[in-house]
Amino acid sequence: MENKQKVLQCYSCGNETLMNLVGEHRSDWGCPEDLHETCNYQLYICPICGKPTLLETYWNECQQRYTYNGEIEDYEEHTILFPVSTIKTNNLPVEVKSAFESALKTKNIDTAVCLIALRRTLEIVCKEKGAVGHNLWKKIEDLSNKGILPPELKHASVITKTYGNMGAHDADISTTKQELEQVIEFVQYILDYLYILPAKINKIQEKMARAKDEEGEE
Ligand SMILES: [Zn+2]
Repeated sequence: MENKQKVLQCYSCGNETLMNLVGEHRSDWGCPEDLHETCNYQLYICPICGKPTLLETYWNECQQRYTYNGEIEDYEEHTILFPVSTIKTNNLPVEVKSAFESALKTKNIDTAVCLIALRRTLEIVCKEKGAVGHNLWKKIEDLSNKGILPPELKHASVITKTYGNMGAHDADISTTKQELEQVIEFVQYILDYLYILPAKINKIQEKMARAKDEEGEE
């Protein structure tokens, strides 16, 4: 272990603080071009709340990483795997991803702020999908009427909206941790359905079409 301490944001208590490294594991493997990929896992303990943070440092020598906007990014990547505060995908519009990650970052710290951030994620999704209406309820209904949101996800959206309102207006909010996890899960389903699943299907279909073309050429 080289550096035994690192300044990290603790997503259990919200403090950005110098944490102590208590364990480390490194995995190396080769890829087809015989260059290397490395994943380093480090476990840090927050001196303020005593809870762990698992940091993954991924490094790849031979694979370029593209952002949602098509820009090439550095191969080294730091991700806090625990507590979960990021979503691992490049298939979400930047604003949607950033709004959802803001919610994840506050889920252990402030329930009301997290609920408001989830509602905001939904508002950004509605805007991105061109929903029409003078309030969030009307916009959800509009997406549902247009067939963009199936009935189950319409209900999930309405629940998220309602909890978000509670977060914004009720001073002594009594949402349980389990309820909060559920609302986060609902938003995750909405993002999966609207963005992540179509992108994955598209990628596989393109690959299949390319394989078919190549077959035709032979
Ligand atoms: Zn902490």
